[in-house]
Amino acid sequence: MAKDTPSMAKNKMRRCLVAILDPHPSNLEIEQLWTYFQSSCAYCGIPLDRTSRNGHLDHIVSSALGGTNEIHNHVLSCNKCNGDEKREEDWQSFLARKVTDSALVAERHAHISGWIERADGRGVLDPSVKTQAETIIVQVLESFDAAVKKLRALRP
Ligand SMILES: [Zn+2]
Repeated sequence: MAKDTPSMAKNKMRRCLVAILDPHPSNLEIEQLWTYFQSSCAYCGIPLDRTSRNGHLDHIVSSALGGTNEIHNHVLSCNKCNGDEKREEDWQSFLARKVTDSALVAERHAHISGWIERADGRGVLDPSVKTQAETIIVQVLESFDAAVKKLRALRP
């Protein structure tokens, strides 16, 4: 079994602590997302296959802007729309740019809106909560560093 170094453990602790505040979607939630979007890209409509890796969970509000991992802060997207084309663009302008048929834009806009409004405020973290969480996590990791240092000093 591979041994975890203190720095590997520290990275794991950070991820674990962050996930307490902002858990990743469960398999059931991901299943619900695939069902809602009928296994097709929310933007371009291309059919997607769960067994391949062409379907992505695209963040509606990016984590840089305080977006969470809440399932309703994601839409199902093909790798082309998610990875190559949309990038940091907001979903409304991307959809309008991607789809030329205005009736189709309106239909997909309504479908995406119907999904993301179910986030009910959980799609975005309050900046002050994010700051408090970061303070707590930094304290834990500093205390871990101090423990590592003390234990190394005890080594014969
Ligand atoms: Zn697409």
